[in-house]
Amino acid sequence: MNLKSHLLPEEVFSAVAKCATKINLDAYVIGGFVRDIILNRPSKDIDFVSVGSGISLAKKVAQELKCKNLSLFKNFGTAMVKYKAHELEFVGARKESYQRDSRKPIVEDGTLEDDQNRRDFTINALAIKLSDDGYGELVDPFDGVNDLKKKIIRTPLDPSITFSDDPLRMMRAIRFASQLNFDIEANTFDSIINQADRIKIVSKERIIDELNKIILSPTPSYGFKLLFQSGLLHYIFPEMIALHGVETREGKSHKDNFYHTLQVLDNISENTNYLYLRWAAILHDIAKPPTKRFHKKAGWTFHGHEDKGARMVPTIFKRMKLPMNDKMKYVQKLVKLHLRPIALVRDEITDSAIRRLLFEAGDDVDDLMTLCNADITTKNPNKVKRYLTNFKKVKQKLVELEERDKLRNFQPPISGEEIMKRYNLQPSRIVGEIKNEIREAILEGKIDNNKEQAESLMQEIAKARGLEN
Ligand code: ATP
Repeated sequence: MNLKSHLLPEEVFSAVAKCATKINLDAYVIGGFVRDIILNRPSKDIDFVSVGSGISLAKKVAQELKCKNLSLFKNFGTAMVKYKAHELEFVGARKESYQRDSRKPIVEDGTLEDDQNRRDFTINALAIKLSDDGYGELVDPFDGVNDLKKKIIRTPLDPSITFSDDPLRMMRAIRFASQLNFDIEANTFDSIINQADRIKIVSKERIIDELNKIILSPTPSYGFKLLFQSGLLHYIFPEMIALHGVETREGKSHKDNFYHTLQVLDNISENTNYLYLRWAAILHDIAKPPTKRFHKKAGWTFHGHEDKGARMVPTIFKRMKLPMNDKMKYVQKLVKLHLRPIALVRDEITDSAIRRLLFEAGDDVDDLMTLCNADITTKNPNKVKRYLTNFKKVKQKLVELEERDKLRNFQPPISGEEIMKRYNLQPSRIVGEIKNEIREAILEGKIDNNKEQAESLMQEIAKARGLEN
């Protein structure tokens, strides 16, 4: 197979071919870029492998492309050239051998074949020749193109060796299956099952990179089901395993919260590609197992799972090496508030309840509604219709009230500073209390959200407390 016409942008590949000839070495495009050409997927990063020094080739190519953006990683024998929107990675072909007692491979210079042997999957071991004799020729020693056609993830060598050498590859197998909607070949999957516990030796940072890619795949439940069936999920995310299963007592069952969560995740993925909104879907019911109770009359309850869930978010983020910043706070907020719009549907919607939700959710109120819509997983079409209509009503109310009261990014109309100055107070509890009373009055609709009305209420409060005569 010749893929010459797919080697775009053309100037990049002809520059690599020209430079490789100049310094007398063989060069190939390899890995994901080649796979994606055949799958017709866009891909920006291009990996080149040369039989000989990758660094020397990169230097020449940077010159040829008149590109100043060259980074050398001498310790690893790799180099990167940034060219327009592309990252061009260069590495010399290498042979890796792993010792039983060490995770670090012994790396030696090798042939193209050695380099293809160390790749994780047949579909990632494809290479395209760039030298003059056979420019564009595909080198496919493991029948990777056939696996692409059959939609199969398979290791080039014995899977038990491939996975034992680098156990992260087990996560990568599931990641590619989920991104590409491929099957994992039976032997390969059996081997993941057998070695799942070895994921423990892989760094949390590498694991979360792959997990996030699974979460961002088109139907992430597929990846999660594979993680579950292989046993990997037990090691990387035990809180999710705890969601699995149905308990029945006195003829009363609750739903399986693991599959419910996956359904919510798939639902939300149809409406957002934002990783942390997808994370909020994964974690919205995470505290159902620890809050589960059985009552003779009411059956199963999960009281307070939204608060406990919100408290679990930082612990899970920290352990998984997810960012402990505003993104974590965002997920925490959505988990905490995920029942509120539903409660608003049930109670006769009062303005003050809606105002409170706007105040607490702030700018994330639309994302909260997206989460709540995704949380509808009943199979009963009449119920779905009813819930969606109710949410529409809540949304409508939210819009109306927001237009009127501007509570989304609520700033107190009178600041603590102003209160202190006016009544000659030091920073103290009373200042906070006055501010709170004003805020409560706005949320309850007793006064409007403006300075004038807040001022007169402040004077009333101050009088009542003997601050003003
Ligand atoms: P994407 O860009 O979508 O992540 P990719 O295949 O380019 O896909 P990378 O992680 O960038 O994924 O890896 C580039 C190539 O390096 C892969 O196609 C594969 O050949 C090889 N590779 C990466 N990680 C490993 C690994 N852990 N073991 C073996 N080969 C690997």
